[in-house]
Formats: sequence, structure tokens, C-alpha cells
Amino acid sequence: MYVEDVLGEYELDRLTIATLASHSSLQIVHGAKAEGFRTALVALRDRYWFYGQFSHLVDRFVVVDSWRELCSERVVGELRRLYSVFVPHGSYVEYVGLDCATSLPLPIFGLRSLYGVEADQWAKVALLREAGIPVPRVYRVGEDFEGVVIAKLPGAKGGRGYFVVRSPQEVTQRIESLVRLGLVENPNEVLLQEYLVGVTAYFHYFYSPILGRTEILGADVRYESDVDGLRRVPVALSLELGLEPTFTVVGNIPLVLRESLLPEVLELGVRFVRITQEKLPPGIVGPFCLESVVDRDLRIKVFEFSGRIVAGTNLYVDGSPYSYLYWGEPMSTGRRIARELRLAVERGQLIRVLT
Ligand code: AMP
Repeated sequence: MYVEDVLGEYELDRLTIATLASHSSLQIVHGAKAEGFRTALVALRDRYWFYGQFSHLVDRFVVVDSWRELCSERVVGELRRLYSVFVPHGSYVEYVGLDCATSLPLPIFGLRSLYGVEADQWAKVALLREAGIPVPRVYRVGEDFEGVVIAKLPGAKGGRGYFVVRSPQEVTQRIESLVRLGLVENPNEVLLQEYLVGVTAYFHYFYSPILGRTEILGADVRYESDVDGLRRVPVALSLELGLEPTFTVVGNIPLVLRESLLPEVLELGVRFVRITQEKLPPGIVGPFCLESVVDRDLRIKVFEFSGRIVAGTNLYVDGSPYSYLYWGEPMSTGRRIARELRLAVERGQLIRVLT
């Protein structure tokens, strides 16, 4: 599919902003409405009743029995008839699978060639490193290391499939048993990362091809079960119980950064934008997130990125302390997406924000 061909069939003053009803979809349709767009949600049949409560934000529901139906002729056809631009969110690739996510025959607001990189833990770290963004030390299974590492299995998501290990011998034992259980096929795909100690901070950015600038739209801290819950258990007791932390995200907590950190945070975002423009032209479009740990000396290391809108932005449906400084009006990431689309249409540059 060529975006130009699809756009050729569209009435550009009647675009619909479409997404999957999950993750940050309410924020996305809320923002789309604020900018005067029509909206569509692709909703799972058993969640339709919930999203129906927000029908004032949604012009059309496309009901499916499984997320994979997104790429079916029926759903794509219906969305094209609505002149849809598809906005992928953090759960998009996980829900529809990498193939459908990458080949969806609809114009996507974002960089679809990044999804393949995001699916590969090693490629991800390599991209950050090439950008000149500080990352934790990484090792392969069988390599020697000192200290504590976090092991990330291929395909691990939302903090599931991670575990913390203290020695190369322990890694070998754990991986061998995972191979036996069929949970790991190729130990070489497991990424071992230096376990960073400090405060986790997730920075939300937006790259605007139309304005040619990177904006900081917010920051958050995740609340994770049960690593955060363990703080309530005395350390001695947790060791006695043999408790092992998991990192399943339960929710997000707002974070306002020390202002003196902001120049560096923005610099990291700009570096990320540049590397994607160099390696994956045309480069990132719209929202992305760098996930970091800030240590006691205020050094920032980025252990992960997301090339799409992250759920932590749901904190700021009415705008964040940073988006207000840029825009002087309530500007969520969802609304910022719609604003970029509106500016692009007005300037006859829609093709610059779609892939
Ligand atoms: P992710 O799925 O990569 O976003 O990571 C899930 C969670 O695991 C993060 O929110 C952190 O709490 C934790 N985590 C991931 N990588 C590291 C690391 N290198 N050091 C410390 N904690 C980490």
C-alpha cells in the first residue's frame, strides 16, 4: 500500500481519527474531537458496552471478535470509507501482531518501520546507543558480569517475562529451565541488562514534522506489581519468603521533573528523533517515550523506548505542566496528535505525518 494512493481516495476535510479501543484510546478520541475530527474505535465485542459510555466522543464503532480482525478486508474497508487515519498506541503491536501492525493498509500517524526494531530487544538497545543516549550495560547469556542484572526474555511485555539475577551461574540455571519448559527457544535472544538503581522516570515526547520541533509533553512513574508493593514488606521478611519481584504495570503516577533536568531530557529526545531520521527515514512522527532511571548523581540512563503514545500520558487528558507551556491551552498527547494532523491538512502537508 502506498499512503499517497489511499490519500488520493480521501476527502481530506472529512478525515476520521481511528484507533483500537484500549490503552489510551479515550484520550485519543477526546483529543480528536477537540480538534474537530470525526472518530472511530475498533472495539472488542465484550468491551463495547464500556466504550459505549463515551459515545459522545465516538462517531463510529467497528466491533470485532479478535484484535487480529483489524487487518481484515471488512474492517479496513469500513475504516477507509470513513477516510481514516489510524493512530497506533502502546498496545497496538501486541494486540494485532507485528505483521498486521506493519502492513496495515491504512495511513498510520507514526513510523511503522520502527515496530520491527521495537520487537527485538537487542536492536532496540543498539538504536538508543547509536543515538548517543546513555543505556545500561548489556550482556548475553553465558557472558560474565558483576552485580545484579535484569533478564528480559524475547517478546516480554509490560514488565512480564523479566526477572532479576545475581550471577552468571544463576542466569545459566534459570535459562536452562526456561528452555526445558519451552518458554525460551534461543537463549541468545535473552537480553541481560545492568539493574539500574534510582528513580524510574518515563519521559513523554512529541516530534512534530510540521513545526520541526521536539516537545516534552509530560513525565510519569509507573506503579508496578509487586516490585513497588515489596516496599511495604520489611526486607528481612521478603528475603525469608523468597519473594521475587515482578514488574507488571498497574498504573501511572504523575511526575514533574526538576527544571534543571529538562535540558538534558529534551536533548535525549532530540537525539532519538535524529537517529530515527537517519536510520529509518522519514523518522519518528508524533509521540514517543524514553524510559529511564535517574540515579543519585542525577545521571539518566535509558533502558527502553516506545515509538508510540504510552499509557502514562492518560494522566494528562487535560494537558500537562509542560504541554501548557508550549500551547497555553489544555493539550493532551491525544489532542496534540489531532492538532498535528489539522496543521498538516491546513498546510497541504499531510503526507509528512503519515507512513
Ligand atoms: P519495560 O517493560 O522495559 O518498560 O520494563 C518494565 C519495568 O522493569 C520498568 O518499569 C522497570 O521498573 C523495570 N526495569 C526494566 N529495565 C530495568 C533496568 N535495566 N534496571 C532496573 N529496572 C528495570
